[in-house]
Amino acid sequence: MRGLIGGQPLTVRTIFDRMRTVYRDGEVVDARGRTTYGDLADRVLRLVTVLHDLGVRPGDRVASFANNSARHVELYYAVPLAGAVLHMVNIRLHDDQIAYVVGHAGDTVLVADDDLLDRLASVDLTGLKHVLGMDDLAARVDAASPCADLPDLDEEDPCGICYTSGTTGMPKGVVFSHRATYLHAMAACMVDHLAISERDRVLPVVPLFHACGWGLPYIAPFTGAELVFAGADTSPENLARIIERERVTFAAGVPTIWTGLLPLAENGSFDYSSLRTLGIGGAATPGPLMEAWDALGVPILQIWGMTETAPVACTSRPRRAHRSLSVEEQRAVRLKTGTIFAGLEARIVGDDGTELPWDGASVGELECRGPWVATGYYDDPGLGDRFHDGWLRTGDMAFMEPDGYFKIVDRSKDLVKSGGEWISSLDLEAAIMSHPLVREAAVVGVRSAKWDERPVAVVAPVNGVAPTLAELHAHLAGRVAKWWLPDDVIVVDEIPKTSVGKFDKKAIRAQLADKELP
Ligand code: ADP
Repeated sequence: MRGLIGGQPLTVRTIFDRMRTVYRDGEVVDARGRTTYGDLADRVLRLVTVLHDLGVRPGDRVASFANNSARHVELYYAVPLAGAVLHMVNIRLHDDQIAYVVGHAGDTVLVADDDLLDRLASVDLTGLKHVLGMDDLAARVDAASPCADLPDLDEEDPCGICYTSGTTGMPKGVVFSHRATYLHAMAACMVDHLAISERDRVLPVVPLFHACGWGLPYIAPFTGAELVFAGADTSPENLARIIERERVTFAAGVPTIWTGLLPLAENGSFDYSSLRTLGIGGAATPGPLMEAWDALGVPILQIWGMTETAPVACTSRPRRAHRSLSVEEQRAVRLKTGTIFAGLEARIVGDDGTELPWDGASVGELECRGPWVATGYYDDPGLGDRFHDGWLRTGDMAFMEPDGYFKIVDRSKDLVKSGGEWISSLDLEAAIMSHPLVREAAVVGVRSAKWDERPVAVVAPVNGVAPTLAELHAHLAGRVAKWWLPDDVIVVDEIPKTSVGKFDKKAIRAQLADKELP
């Protein structure tokens, strides 16, 4: 229809142009130094030329194998602007998984951090035409002229592919379109979502190779927020140094990162006064962690999402009805999962696929749909049962309150089935982690002759001394139902973690495979 508003495709190009023009002066800081969005954008245009010279054509896949850096962000823009698809490869995968994802995605070029090239020596990468180090690429960029005729982009074109971290099986490829990436970035910065603005300095501790770095390399330049990267060193000491020096306002990562940083904040060894939000996602936020950061005046914002939701889809912000509640009651609300982002839909379904009531009690599988939710995995039709009628079966079990506020009680695979009843490993972990001697705790189901499964707690103590089973039971009395009390406690120095820092329950279950309880 003539005169209709709009017509411009929704692409990464629009985000790029804003970064290149309006926010030219915005800073990007990484382990190598400082640059600006303007300079970074100029390099992106030259990098497009380099990609063309390497034979990259629209639709081709280009892999990155890198830690968080400005150079990695250059690829986040140059590859889509060249009409190609950026495949962010998780650098912590095993050799066979790396070979699998690179082959499965059909990558033709791979760009790696120079100190990661050795890591690739043992990986079969025969399908690739070029493997380049970042320094080599940077030298070519220095010598190239900016691309003056960027290809036209369709908003339905793919611009990124990311594989799930494989917590529950072989990695599965999720393809992001320009349109989904654009809409995700717009939605994510809304005030009741992540609330990221031009006033922010954002530190994505979440790796850019995991779930698209939660979209932050697109969200930040879109809003004018500046970007700060820690690179490979995500130790508490380095994060503390960077937060203090760079006056970071918004930092994002999995819970274990903030558990590690907490003691340094508590003993006053760095200045964290610039922080206004710690965004925690990827796994449920433990209550004691939120309480401890609250006490320091740094609010934790709980974020939920998955690679399949591109990835951020929900934040836990108290709503109108919660505002009159006490601080503790509001914290209980913030420890739920939250409200699905505007633009997406969420619902809970029972075993038979029917929708369950929003009654704050009925637990079923969380389903999600919307313009930035995957409708299938890349070239993997066998996994089609995760998707139906536009809905994604998340594999997360949740209940929904009448106002659409929901809480994930567990991943369906992690629920402990005892005597025909379910025990939420997440809730039990949260209760165990409220014990003062416990730093981290993971609960898994162990085979039981009588009960089918019984919960066993794997505990990492604060200072080497863990509570005994009896002490733990005494602490849990009144906090959880009696039949939830773990049958055993196993003390470890560190809980096994996945490649992206979540509790690795698959590994824990494997270690306890021979264990049998009465
Ligand atoms: P993987 O499936 O390989 O772990 P993802 O990062 O996509 O990779 O994981 C998404 C899953 O992480 C969700 O389905 C959910 O189980 C868990 N998750 C993410 N954020 C939260 C949260 N705030 N609370 C509880 N679980 C979460």
